Amino acid sequence: MSGVLLIVAAPSGAGKSTLVNALLARETDMQLSISHTTRAPRPGEGEGRHYHFVSRAEFDASVGADAFLEHAEVHGNGYGTARAPIMAALDAGRGVILEIDWQGARQVRARMPEAASVFILPPARAELERRLRARATDSADIIARRLAGSREEILHATEFDYLVVNDRFEQALDDLRAIVRAERLRSLRARRLHADLLHELLESA
Ligand code: GDP
Ligand code: ADP
Ligand code: 5GP
Repeated sequence: MSGVLLIVAAPSGAGKSTLVNALLARETDMQLSISHTTRAPRPGEGEGRHYHFVSRAEFDASVGADAFLEHAEVHGNGYGTARAPIMAALDAGRGVILEIDWQGARQVRARMPEAASVFILPPARAELERRLRARATDSADIIARRLAGSREEILHATEFDYLVVNDRFEQALDDLRAIVRAERLRSLRARRLHADLLHELLESA
């Protein structure tokens, strides 16, 4: 397994999806893990593109079959990451981004210690609220629920390897790209990528 596994979490509205999409557009060897969720699609969200939208019964069956690398209840909905496609991508040397909550991040860290985790912070509470409203994808009560849940999420920010403040978008994107670049150079991964080079250097010494 040589691909970078990147966990990205944030309170709802911090800009996580916008940043991840911009990162994916630039890092072509990385792919987004498409989660399973029991929540209803938002307008414009297509099956298999943003999420696999499943019933509670289907979700519970996947949990029972141990098909998820991690799963959690977030804002009253079930969310889970299917294990098989991630392992296949990493084995093929591709990077994988998981957009998951702090509970899922904990589970992935425990199972895959080589994963790198990033927490995206909004620059201020008022701005988080403004972005959630500006996105205009959720009803007032869902926004209120997400804002209330953001405190719980942010309480766990320091469990992550990296903190990125999404104030100026381009700066935050640059920070994310620096993290990906550093993770690619990690010795454990680079050792496998450069096995031939290490062999050649040692042989001729
Ligand atoms: P968002 O907050 O606007 O991105 O709204 P979503 O409904 O897409 O996601 C709600 C929360 O669920 C966010 O904190 C996501 O990170 C989290 N989430 C999404 N997919 C997964 C998953 O597969 N596993 C876990 N544990 N959390 C997930
Ligand atoms: P999340 O996935 O964390 O819930 P989104 O990516 O949907 O958040 O972003 C929430 C809203 O904030 C979107 O309307 C997005 O365009 C906007 N946004 C993201 N980053 C910034 C930024 N740096 N400055 C201003 N608005 C931003
Ligand atoms: P919309 O969802 O309408 O495209 O964007 C909502 C808000 O997020 C707007 O105020 C917009 O300026 C901001 N936003 C979206 N993408 C970016 C970006 O790439 N950079 C910055 N600075 N702001 C963004």
